[in-house]
Amino acid sequence: MADYRYYLDYAASAPLRPEVGVAMAAVAARAGNPSSLHGSGRVARAALEGAREQVAAAVGALPAEVVFTSGGTEADNIAVLGGVSSAWAREAGRTRLVTTSVEHPAVAEAATTLADRTRVVGVDDAGRLDEGEWMDALDGSVAVASAMWANNETGVIFDVASLAEAAHRAGAWAHSDGVQALGHVPVSFADSGLDLLSLSAHKVGGPVGVGALVVRRGLEPAPVMYGGGQERKLRSGTVSVALAVGFAAAAELAVAELAAEASRIGGLRERVVAAISGIEGARVNGEGTSPAICNATFAGLRADDLLLMLDAAGVDCSTGSACTAGVHRPSEVLLAMGRSEADASASVRFSFGWATTDDDVEALVGALPDAVGRARAAYAW
Ligand code: PLP
Repeated sequence: MADYRYYLDYAASAPLRPEVGVAMAAVAARAGNPSSLHGSGRVARAALEGAREQVAAAVGALPAEVVFTSGGTEADNIAVLGGVSSAWAREAGRTRLVTTSVEHPAVAEAATTLADRTRVVGVDDAGRLDEGEWMDALDGSVAVASAMWANNETGVIFDVASLAEAAHRAGAWAHSDGVQALGHVPVSFADSGLDLLSLSAHKVGGPVGVGALVVRRGLEPAPVMYGGGQERKLRSGTVSVALAVGFAAAAELAVAELAAEASRIGGLRERVVAAISGIEGARVNGEGTSPAICNATFAGLRADDLLLMLDAAGVDCSTGSACTAGVHRPSEVLLAMGRSEADASASVRFSFGWATTDDDVEALVGALPDAVGRARAAYAW
């Protein structure tokens, strides 16, 4: 295996930014629970509230609206399940969830627990949401309408503000999973009109294990677990001050650099798109995407084989599909976009971020034609 790794899997997890490590180290060794009333507790509380203000400023929210969680998964679960089972929803007789066919499992799997109380709205072959069907699905029985901001497999961006407006016309709460949007497209909670927004630190150079649910002031989703009542009684458990501080530092940097990075990374993506277009039987999936994600289908191979060929050349990328107990499964997102099982099993995601260099992309572009050829040969054999 190649020694140097050309890391093109930022949508899975980005490397920690050095500034983030420094900010975390400054608080990690200190004793003190932010809920304790003594001096050490108050110092921890001050650092936690500072982090809350920084995250809020980065996403155009009020500090009181930021609820720290263990990551995007927990934020999604609280938004969807906590929204549908909130006192407000119960009193209003609103029992249903409307969501989309391309959500991350953190929303999609949570939705399955609501069984026939969920309506799933589809997308077209470019990954764009069927907005007519979205409107049609919204009525007085809907508690929460949840549509992701940027898709984690294809990078396709939804017009979250207009989806939120439609949800509000029906009186429902609007939620978006903004995990892949933060740092790559402009995210303003206030301007979006959303009621609930999920975020995660480790996609933007923050630590793994922390994120936030931004909850519009005055709304009270039900908690999905119980304990000491921290974080507006919504997410019990001692908050890790070091993780929150790391998240805040990463979010602040990502948002400050967004304009320059979107253009730099967009250029890198274009280079990858051009290389893919030069390969017969290859096609890029999705239109109107984040600059940070490029998903492509290479007909006539298995994505896992291509991934291993690229891996041997030192290039890290990923398939969208899950591989359970050795069974290759096609990408649910690409199936939802109308692709055949074969094409949805032949698709790979390249994703970029703060430390991606021209060299990383050139390594991919150089290795791709041969890797595709060998993966096709392996499949045919
Ligand atoms: N939502 C989206 C769109 C994601 O891409 C991810 C991570 O892959 C998550 C949610 C889950 O975030 P976390 O890993 O912080 O739980």
